Amino acid sequence: MTTDCLFCRIVTGEIPGDIVYQDAEIVAFRDIHPVAPTHILILPREHIGSVQEMGECDGALIGRMVLCARQLAEQEGVAERGYRLVVNCGPEGGQVVPHLHLHLIGGRKLDDSMG
Ligand code: AMP
Ligand code: ZN
Repeated sequence: MTTDCLFCRIVTGEIPGDIVYQDAEIVAFRDIHPVAPTHILILPREHIGSVQEMGECDGALIGRMVLCARQLAEQEGVAERGYRLVVNCGPEGGQVVPHLHLHLIGGRKLDDSMG
């Protein structure tokens, strides 16, 4: 827990979030500025700043985050149509909140641009 981290504060409940899933390791909540009908952020409870700060033993964690995203895509009814999973890393990668997170985006036809 890093007290000045927005997502840590949502994880602990200090700041409200529209939480759609949580377990001992992972929390998922709706993005406050959704870019599509489904836009959910999936993150570890533990504060990890970005992919760059992942340790060697965090590989399984990102796998569980992806499986969590798949389950949420099914619950949201977008799994068959398709969806996008995005992890921004660092300033030029478009990361604004420095707590590792996976974006699950779906529910409309996304454009083909990768940035
Ligand atoms: P990124 O640019 O990958 O760091 O993504 C950060 C995301 O967090 C953006 O899509 C924001 O809309 C979202 N966001 C910022 N503040 C909040 C909040 N309080 N609750 C939910 N989502 C947020
Ligand atoms: Zn954090």
